[in-house]
Amino acid sequence: RKILTDRINRIEVSATMAITAEALKLKSQGVDLADFGAGEPHFSTPEHIKQAAIEAIEKNFTRYTNVAGVPEVRKAIVDRHAADFGSSYAVDECVFTTGGKLALFNAIQVLVDHGDEVILPVPYWVSYKDIIQYAGGVPVYVESLESENFRITAEMIEAAITPKTKCIILNTPSNPSGAIIAPEDVEAIVRLAHSRGIYLLIDECYVYLTFSGEVISAGKFTDCKEHIIILGSLSKTYAMTGWRAGYALGPKPIIAAMSKLQSQSTSNSASMVQKASIAAVAGPQECVAEMRADYIKLRDRILEGFKTIPGLTCTVPQGAFYVYPNVSAFFGKGGIETASDVAAKLLSEAHVVCVPGEPFGTSEHIRLSYAVSESVVDEGLKRMREFFAGLK
Ligand code: PLP
Repeated sequence: RKILTDRINRIEVSATMAITAEALKLKSQGVDLADFGAGEPHFSTPEHIKQAAIEAIEKNFTRYTNVAGVPEVRKAIVDRHAADFGSSYAVDECVFTTGGKLALFNAIQVLVDHGDEVILPVPYWVSYKDIIQYAGGVPVYVESLESENFRITAEMIEAAITPKTKCIILNTPSNPSGAIIAPEDVEAIVRLAHSRGIYLLIDECYVYLTFSGEVISAGKFTDCKEHIIILGSLSKTYAMTGWRAGYALGPKPIIAAMSKLQSQSTSNSASMVQKASIAAVAGPQECVAEMRADYIKLRDRILEGFKTIPGLTCTVPQGAFYVYPNVSAFFGKGGIETASDVAAKLLSEAHVVCVPGEPFGTSEHIRLSYAVSESVVDEGLKRMREFFAGLK
Protein backbone atom coordinates (compact mmCIF):
# COMPACT_ATOMS: atom_id res chain seq x y z
CA ARG A 1 0.00 0.00 0.00
CA LYS A 2 1.46 3.37 -0.96
CA ILE A 3 1.94 5.85 1.82
CA LEU A 4 1.30 9.14 0.08
CA THR A 5 -1.69 10.26 -1.94
CA ASP A 6 -1.60 10.91 -5.66
CA ARG A 7 -2.44 14.52 -5.04
CA ILE A 8 0.55 15.20 -2.83
CA ASN A 9 2.76 13.39 -5.33
CA ARG A 10 1.52 15.74 -8.06
CA ILE A 11 3.29 18.72 -6.49
CA GLU A 12 6.85 19.72 -5.65
CA VAL A 13 8.43 21.68 -2.84
CA SER A 14 8.32 25.38 -3.69
CA ALA A 15 11.53 26.06 -5.65
CA THR A 16 12.12 29.38 -3.93
CA MET A 17 11.85 27.67 -0.56
CA ALA A 18 14.34 25.00 -1.69
CA ILE A 19 16.89 27.70 -2.62
CA THR A 20 16.29 29.47 0.68
CA ALA A 21 16.98 26.22 2.52
CA GLU A 22 20.25 25.68 0.62
CA ALA A 23 21.31 29.27 1.30
CA LEU A 24 20.49 28.89 5.01
CA LYS A 25 22.67 25.78 5.13
CA LEU A 26 25.65 27.64 3.68
CA LYS A 27 25.01 30.60 5.98
CA SER A 28 25.02 28.33 9.00
CA GLN A 29 28.44 27.09 7.85
CA GLY A 30 29.63 30.69 8.07
CA VAL A 31 29.61 31.44 4.32
CA ASP A 32 29.01 35.12 3.58
CA LEU A 33 26.29 35.20 0.93
CA ALA A 34 25.00 37.98 -1.30
CA ASP A 35 21.43 36.81 -1.00
CA PHE A 36 18.95 37.74 -3.74
CA GLY A 37 16.95 34.55 -3.24
CA ALA A 38 13.97 35.07 -1.01
CA GLY A 39 11.16 37.31 -2.22
CA GLU A 40 10.68 39.37 0.88
CA PRO A 41 11.19 42.96 1.92
CA HIS A 42 14.38 43.72 3.82
CA PHE A 43 12.47 46.33 5.81
CA SER A 44 11.11 45.71 9.29
CA THR A 45 7.36 45.82 9.81
CA PRO A 46 6.41 49.46 10.54
CA GLU A 47 6.21 50.31 14.23
CA HIS A 48 2.49 51.20 14.40
CA ILE A 49 1.60 47.79 12.96
CA LYS A 50 3.73 45.95 15.51
CA GLN A 51 2.23 48.04 18.32
CA ALA A 52 -1.30 47.07 17.28
CA ALA A 53 -0.41 43.38 17.65
CA ILE A 54 1.28 43.95 21.00
CA GLU A 55 -1.77 45.82 22.23
CA ALA A 56 -4.06 43.04 20.99
CA ILE A 57 -2.10 40.49 22.98
CA GLU A 58 -2.01 42.67 26.09
CA LYS A 59 -5.75 43.17 25.88
CA ASN A 60 -6.20 39.41 25.55
CA PHE A 61 -7.49 39.56 22.01
CA THR A 62 -6.17 36.04 21.74
CA ARG A 63 -9.21 33.85 21.14
CA TYR A 64 -10.85 32.35 18.09
CA THR A 65 -12.46 34.90 15.81
CA ASN A 66 -14.87 34.59 12.89
CA VAL A 67 -13.40 32.06 10.48
CA ALA A 68 -13.30 34.65 7.67
CA GLY A 69 -11.69 37.26 9.93
CA VAL A 70 -13.28 39.84 12.19
CA PRO A 71 -15.62 42.22 10.33
CA GLU A 72 -13.29 45.15 11.20
CA VAL A 73 -10.34 43.74 9.28
CA ARG A 74 -12.48 42.86 6.29
CA LYS A 75 -14.08 46.31 6.37
CA ALA A 76 -10.64 47.94 6.54
CA ILE A 77 -9.58 45.95 3.46
CA VAL A 78 -12.68 46.65 1.36
CA ASP A 79 -12.59 50.34 2.33
CA ARG A 80 -8.92 50.70 1.36
CA HIS A 81 -9.58 48.92 -1.90
CA ALA A 82 -12.56 51.14 -2.67
CA ALA A 83 -10.59 54.30 -1.85
CA ASP A 84 -7.50 53.30 -3.81
CA PHE A 85 -9.02 51.54 -6.80
CA GLY A 86 -12.71 52.39 -7.04
CA SER A 87 -13.85 48.85 -6.26
CA SER A 88 -17.08 48.13 -4.41
CA TYR A 89 -16.92 45.06 -2.20
CA ALA A 90 -19.09 44.34 0.82
CA VAL A 91 -17.60 42.84 3.99
CA ASP A 92 -19.01 39.41 3.10
CA GLU A 93 -17.25 39.58 -0.24
CA CYS A 94 -13.91 39.48 1.58
CA VAL A 95 -12.18 36.63 3.40
CA PHE A 96 -9.06 37.19 5.48
CA THR A 97 -6.54 34.35 5.15
CA THR A 98 -3.32 33.11 6.66
CA GLY A 99 -1.23 34.71 3.90
CA GLY A 100 -1.94 35.49 0.29
CA LYS A 101 -0.79 32.04 -0.75
CA LEU A 102 -3.66 30.49 1.19
CA ALA A 103 -6.13 32.85 -0.47
CA LEU A 104 -4.92 31.54 -3.81
CA PHE A 105 -4.90 27.94 -2.62
CA ASN A 106 -8.44 28.14 -1.27
CA ALA A 107 -9.77 29.96 -4.34
CA ILE A 108 -8.38 27.24 -6.61
CA GLN A 109 -9.68 24.49 -4.35
CA VAL A 110 -13.22 25.83 -4.51
CA LEU A 111 -13.18 26.62 -8.25
CA VAL A 112 -11.11 23.95 -9.97
CA ASP A 113 -12.28 20.36 -10.38
CA HIS A 114 -10.49 17.38 -11.92
CA GLY A 115 -9.74 18.08 -15.57
CA ASP A 116 -10.60 21.79 -15.43
CA GLU A 117 -8.16 23.96 -17.33
CA VAL A 118 -6.55 27.03 -15.82
CA ILE A 119 -4.83 29.49 -18.14
CA LEU A 120 -1.46 30.56 -16.81
CA PRO A 121 0.75 33.15 -18.50
CA VAL A 122 4.48 32.36 -18.58
CA PRO A 123 6.61 33.27 -16.70
CA TYR A 124 4.45 32.51 -13.67
CA TRP A 125 4.97 32.57 -9.94
CA VAL A 126 6.17 29.13 -8.87
CA SER A 127 3.22 28.13 -6.72
CA TYR A 128 0.39 28.53 -9.24
CA LYS A 129 1.24 25.41 -11.21
CA ASP A 130 1.46 23.16 -8.17
CA ILE A 131 -1.64 24.57 -6.51
CA ILE A 132 -3.63 23.98 -9.73
CA GLN A 133 -2.28 20.43 -9.99
CA TYR A 134 -3.04 19.71 -6.35
CA ALA A 135 -6.68 20.53 -7.10
CA GLY A 136 -6.61 18.16 -10.09
CA GLY A 137 -6.65 20.99 -12.60
CA VAL A 138 -4.57 21.31 -15.74
CA PRO A 139 -2.41 24.39 -16.27
CA VAL A 140 -2.58 25.73 -19.83
CA TYR A 141 0.44 27.89 -20.50
CA VAL A 142 0.41 31.10 -22.48
CA GLU A 143 3.94 32.16 -23.41
CA SER A 144 4.79 35.84 -23.27
CA LEU A 145 7.77 37.32 -25.10
CA GLU A 146 10.71 38.90 -23.37
CA SER A 147 11.17 41.12 -26.42
CA GLU A 148 7.65 42.49 -25.73
CA ASN A 149 8.43 43.06 -22.05
CA PHE A 150 6.48 39.90 -21.22
CA ARG A 151 3.25 41.54 -22.41
CA ILE A 152 0.02 39.56 -21.92
CA THR A 153 -2.92 40.48 -24.12
CA ALA A 154 -6.55 39.38 -24.28
CA GLU A 155 -5.85 37.89 -27.73
CA MET A 156 -3.17 35.63 -26.27
CA ILE A 157 -5.51 34.50 -23.50
CA GLU A 158 -8.42 34.02 -25.88
CA ALA A 159 -6.38 31.71 -28.09
CA ALA A 160 -5.90 29.36 -25.11
CA ILE A 161 -9.58 29.15 -24.11
CA THR A 162 -11.29 25.78 -24.59
CA PRO A 163 -14.64 24.44 -23.35
CA LYS A 164 -12.72 23.14 -20.32
CA THR A 165 -11.32 26.53 -19.26
CA LYS A 166 -12.50 27.34 -15.76
CA CYS A 167 -10.07 30.06 -14.64
CA ILE A 168 -7.39 32.45 -15.79
CA ILE A 169 -4.63 33.47 -13.41
CA LEU A 170 -2.99 36.86 -13.80
CA ASN A 171 -0.28 38.37 -11.65
CA THR A 172 0.54 42.04 -11.98
CA PRO A 173 3.13 43.30 -11.14
CA SER A 174 4.72 39.95 -11.86
CA ASN A 175 6.86 37.72 -9.78
CA PRO A 176 9.36 36.85 -11.38
CA SER A 177 9.67 39.43 -14.18
CA GLY A 178 8.46 42.63 -12.50
CA ALA A 179 6.39 43.27 -15.64
CA ILE A 180 3.02 44.91 -15.26
CA ILE A 181 -0.03 44.16 -17.34
CA ALA A 182 -1.08 47.42 -19.00
CA PRO A 183 -4.42 48.78 -17.72
CA GLU A 184 -5.99 48.39 -21.17
CA ASP A 185 -4.86 44.75 -21.29
CA VAL A 186 -6.21 44.08 -17.78
CA GLU A 187 -9.53 45.55 -18.83
CA ALA A 188 -9.67 43.56 -22.06
CA ILE A 189 -8.87 40.32 -20.20
CA VAL A 190 -11.44 41.08 -17.47
CA ARG A 191 -14.10 41.66 -20.12
CA LEU A 192 -13.08 38.55 -22.05
CA ALA A 193 -13.31 36.39 -18.91
CA HIS A 194 -16.65 37.89 -17.95
CA SER A 195 -18.15 37.44 -21.41
CA ARG A 196 -17.06 33.77 -21.49
CA GLY A 197 -18.12 32.94 -17.93
CA ILE A 198 -14.53 32.20 -16.91
CA TYR A 199 -13.19 33.16 -13.48
CA LEU A 200 -10.29 35.58 -13.44
CA LEU A 201 -8.05 35.09 -10.44
CA ILE A 202 -5.86 38.14 -10.27
CA ASP A 203 -2.95 38.11 -7.86
CA GLU A 204 -2.42 41.72 -6.86
CA CYS A 205 -0.04 41.11 -4.00
CA TYR A 206 2.47 43.58 -5.51
CA VAL A 207 -0.10 46.15 -6.67
CA TYR A 208 1.22 48.80 -4.27
CA LEU A 209 4.70 48.19 -5.65
CA THR A 210 3.87 49.53 -9.10
CA PHE A 211 6.59 51.96 -10.13
CA SER A 212 5.30 53.58 -13.27
CA GLY A 213 2.06 54.07 -15.07
CA GLU A 214 -1.45 53.99 -13.73
CA VAL A 215 -1.96 51.76 -10.67
CA ILE A 216 -5.13 49.79 -11.20
CA SER A 217 -6.87 46.80 -9.72
CA ALA A 218 -9.25 44.51 -11.59
CA GLY A 219 -11.72 45.47 -8.84
CA LYS A 220 -12.21 48.72 -10.74
CA PHE A 221 -14.33 46.88 -13.32
CA THR A 222 -17.34 46.57 -11.07
CA ASP A 223 -19.65 45.49 -13.90
CA CYS A 224 -17.59 42.28 -14.28
CA LYS A 225 -17.37 41.55 -10.54
CA GLU A 226 -19.17 38.26 -10.90
CA HIS A 227 -16.11 36.66 -12.50
CA ILE A 228 -13.26 38.42 -10.69
CA ILE A 229 -11.43 37.10 -7.63
CA ILE A 230 -8.76 39.42 -6.30
CA LEU A 231 -5.99 37.86 -4.26
CA GLY A 232 -4.21 40.24 -1.94
CA SER A 233 -1.46 40.12 0.61
CA LEU A 234 -0.03 42.38 3.29
CA SER A 235 3.31 40.57 3.11
CA LYS A 236 5.05 42.76 0.58
CA THR A 237 3.10 46.01 0.91
CA TYR A 238 3.72 46.38 4.64
CA ALA A 239 6.84 44.20 5.09
CA MET A 240 4.79 41.57 6.92
CA THR A 241 5.88 38.28 5.34
CA GLY A 242 6.15 36.36 8.60
CA TRP A 243 2.77 37.47 9.92
CA ARG A 244 0.82 35.55 7.29
CA ALA A 245 -1.83 38.05 6.33
CA GLY A 246 -3.70 37.85 3.05
CA TYR A 247 -7.18 38.13 1.65
CA ALA A 248 -9.48 37.49 -1.26
CA LEU A 249 -12.21 39.71 -2.66
CA GLY A 250 -14.83 38.19 -4.88
CA PRO A 251 -18.41 37.07 -5.42
CA LYS A 252 -20.20 36.15 -2.19
CA PRO A 253 -20.77 32.43 -2.98
CA ILE A 254 -17.08 31.94 -3.80
CA ILE A 255 -15.91 33.81 -0.71
CA ALA A 256 -18.39 31.79 1.39
CA ALA A 257 -17.00 28.54 -0.06
CA MET A 258 -13.44 29.66 0.70
CA SER A 259 -14.50 30.45 4.27
CA LYS A 260 -16.13 27.02 4.54
CA LEU A 261 -12.87 25.39 3.48
CA GLN A 262 -11.04 27.56 5.98
CA SER A 263 -13.52 26.45 8.68
CA GLN A 264 -12.26 22.89 8.15
CA SER A 265 -8.58 23.72 7.91
CA THR A 266 -6.84 26.77 9.40
CA SER A 267 -9.95 28.38 10.95
CA ASN A 268 -9.36 32.10 11.50
CA SER A 269 -5.90 33.52 10.95
CA ALA A 270 -4.17 34.64 14.14
CA SER A 271 -6.32 37.10 16.05
CA MET A 272 -3.48 39.54 16.81
CA VAL A 273 -2.41 39.46 13.17
CA GLN A 274 -5.89 40.60 12.24
CA LYS A 275 -5.54 43.58 14.60
CA ALA A 276 -2.12 44.40 13.18
CA SER A 277 -3.60 44.18 9.70
CA ILE A 278 -6.30 46.70 10.57
CA ALA A 279 -3.54 49.09 11.68
CA ALA A 280 -1.68 48.40 8.44
CA VAL A 281 -4.57 48.85 6.04
CA ALA A 282 -6.55 51.58 7.80
CA GLY A 283 -3.52 53.42 9.23
CA PRO A 284 -1.04 55.85 7.67
CA GLN A 285 0.20 54.75 4.25
CA GLU A 286 3.42 56.82 4.10
CA CYS A 287 5.44 53.73 4.95
CA VAL A 288 4.28 52.10 1.72
CA ALA A 289 5.33 55.08 -0.38
CA GLU A 290 8.70 55.22 1.37
CA MET A 291 9.42 51.55 0.78
CA ARG A 292 8.30 51.84 -2.84
CA ALA A 293 10.69 54.76 -3.40
CA ASP A 294 13.52 52.65 -2.02
CA TYR A 295 12.69 49.70 -4.27
CA ILE A 296 12.82 52.01 -7.30
CA LYS A 297 16.31 53.18 -6.27
CA LEU A 298 17.43 49.59 -5.72
CA ARG A 299 16.00 48.52 -9.08
CA ASP A 300 17.89 51.30 -10.84
CA ARG A 301 21.09 50.42 -8.99
CA ILE A 302 20.98 46.76 -9.95
CA LEU A 303 20.04 47.51 -13.58
CA GLU A 304 22.96 49.97 -13.82
CA GLY A 305 25.23 47.26 -12.45
CA PHE A 306 23.97 44.71 -14.97
CA LYS A 307 25.12 47.02 -17.76
CA THR A 308 28.69 46.33 -16.63
CA ILE A 309 28.25 42.56 -17.12
CA PRO A 310 28.71 41.81 -20.83
CA GLY A 311 26.24 39.20 -22.07
CA LEU A 312 23.63 39.77 -19.38
CA THR A 313 20.44 41.41 -20.67
CA CYS A 314 17.42 42.44 -18.65
CA THR A 315 13.97 43.95 -19.17
CA VAL A 316 13.16 46.95 -16.98
CA PRO A 317 10.77 45.83 -14.23
CA GLN A 318 7.84 48.17 -13.66
CA GLY A 319 6.91 46.79 -10.26
CA ALA A 320 7.46 44.21 -7.48
CA PHE A 321 11.11 43.81 -6.42
CA TYR A 322 12.55 41.31 -8.87
CA VAL A 323 14.84 41.46 -11.87
CA TYR A 324 14.76 38.63 -14.37
CA PRO A 325 17.94 38.82 -16.44
CA ASN A 326 18.54 36.59 -19.44
CA VAL A 327 21.68 34.49 -18.95
CA SER A 328 21.54 32.44 -22.15
CA ALA A 329 24.69 34.17 -23.47
CA PHE A 330 26.64 32.09 -20.94
CA PHE A 331 25.25 28.72 -21.97
CA GLY A 332 28.08 26.56 -23.30
CA LYS A 333 30.69 28.31 -21.15
CA GLY A 334 32.38 26.97 -18.00
CA GLY A 335 30.24 23.82 -17.91
CA ILE A 336 27.00 25.84 -17.88
CA GLU A 337 24.14 24.57 -20.03
CA THR A 338 21.02 25.86 -18.27
CA ALA A 339 19.73 28.65 -16.06
CA SER A 340 19.76 26.16 -13.18
CA ASP A 341 23.49 25.62 -13.79
CA VAL A 342 24.01 29.39 -13.61
CA ALA A 343 22.12 29.61 -10.30
CA ALA A 344 23.93 26.59 -8.84
CA LYS A 345 27.38 27.89 -9.83
CA LEU A 346 26.60 31.42 -8.69
CA LEU A 347 25.78 29.95 -5.29
CA SER A 348 28.68 27.51 -4.97
CA GLU A 349 31.41 29.58 -6.65
CA ALA A 350 30.40 33.23 -6.19
CA HIS A 351 28.23 32.86 -3.08
CA VAL A 352 25.42 34.75 -4.78
CA VAL A 353 21.90 33.44 -4.17
CA CYS A 354 19.34 33.67 -6.96
CA VAL A 355 16.55 31.45 -8.28
CA PRO A 356 16.76 29.82 -11.72
CA GLY A 357 14.01 30.56 -14.22
CA GLU A 358 12.89 26.98 -14.85
CA PRO A 359 10.37 26.81 -11.96
CA PHE A 360 8.86 30.04 -13.33
CA GLY A 361 8.45 28.41 -16.74
CA THR A 362 11.34 29.95 -18.70
CA SER A 363 14.71 28.41 -19.44
CA GLU A 364 17.00 31.40 -20.05
CA HIS A 365 16.61 33.52 -16.93
CA ILE A 366 17.52 33.84 -13.29
CA ARG A 367 15.47 35.78 -10.76
CA LEU A 368 17.05 38.12 -8.27
CA SER A 369 15.10 39.81 -5.51
CA TYR A 370 16.58 43.26 -4.91
CA ALA A 371 14.69 43.80 -1.65
CA VAL A 372 18.09 43.95 0.02
CA SER A 373 20.42 46.71 1.20
CA GLU A 374 22.46 48.78 -1.26
CA SER A 375 25.63 47.17 0.06
CA VAL A 376 24.29 43.68 -0.75
CA VAL A 377 23.38 44.90 -4.25
CA ASP A 378 26.89 46.28 -4.76
CA GLU A 379 28.66 43.23 -3.36
CA GLY A 380 26.44 40.85 -5.34
CA LEU A 381 27.07 42.78 -8.55
CA LYS A 382 30.83 42.67 -7.95
CA ARG A 383 30.72 38.92 -7.44
CA MET A 384 28.52 38.38 -10.48
CA ARG A 385 30.77 40.54 -12.64
CA GLU A 386 33.82 38.49 -11.64
CA PHE A 387 31.98 35.19 -11.99
CA PHE A 388 30.63 35.86 -15.47
CA ALA A 389 33.92 37.42 -16.66
CA GLY A 390 35.72 34.26 -15.50
CA LEU A 391 33.56 31.90 -17.60
CA LYS A 392 35.43 30.56 -20.60
N1 PLP B 1 1.64 35.81 -4.96
C1 PLP B 1 2.86 36.11 -5.43
C2 PLP B 1 3.02 36.48 -6.85
C3 PLP B 1 3.96 36.08 -4.56
O1 PLP B 1 5.17 36.39 -5.03
C4 PLP B 1 3.77 35.71 -3.21
C5 PLP B 1 4.91 35.59 -2.31
O2 PLP B 1 6.03 35.48 -2.69
C6 PLP B 1 2.47 35.42 -2.79
C7 PLP B 1 1.43 35.47 -3.69
C8 PLP B 1 2.15 34.98 -1.40
O3 PLP B 1 2.48 35.86 -0.43
P1 PLP B 1 2.03 35.58 1.06
O4 PLP B 1 1.55 34.20 1.18
O5 PLP B 1 3.26 35.85 1.87
O6 PLP B 1 0.95 36.57 1.35
